[in-house]
Formats: sequence, C-alpha cells, structure tokens
Amino acid sequence: MKEQLNCPCPESKMVLMEYGYPHPEHYDGISEITCTECKKRVGRWSGRVLTVDDYENRFGREPEPKGWEEALQEARDRGDLLTLEEFKETLK
Ligand SMILES: [Zn+2]
Repeated sequence: MKEQLNCPCPESKMVLMEYGYPHPEHYDGISEITCTECKKRVGRWSGRVLTVDDYENRFGREPEPKGWEEALQEARDRGDLLTLEEFKETLK
C-alpha cells in the first residue's frame, strides 16, 4: 500500500479510506490510500492520483466523461432522441 501511494512521508501518515453510504461509490472495503501529511490520494484499484473533487470508482472503473448528461439533454432538445412510444409511432 505504501509503495502504491509513493510519497516521501512516514508510513504512519498513511490512511486507508473506505467510502461508506451515501457515497455514490460506496464500497465495503478500502477504496483509496491517503497521506494525511502531503494529502496525496491514490485509487486502490486504478492507482490513479486523485484530485480534490475526484474519487476512486468501485473496482477502478473509468470515470464517466464529464458533461455526458448535458450532451444527452442537448440531443433531447434537438429531437435526436425518441422515447419508445415516439419510436413506435414512426413504425405505423
Ligand atoms: Zn505524503
């Protein structure tokens, strides 16, 4: 774990973090390794260095591209997306 964190601080500063409820990526076990001295944070599975507003997804899954919800809404607004009912209408 210390090797994974890879910071110069004493090992006693290392904390293993578990995300409890209601964290969106809650996991019953360690999700990240954190140094309380230099504040470096590393994902348990991915080994990614985590920034302030970032966190480790369960099993190191790739983070969702930011803005996909906006892109989806834009497509809806343009009328590019049909609901199932609308799609059935096109078949008549
Ligand atoms: Zn450190």
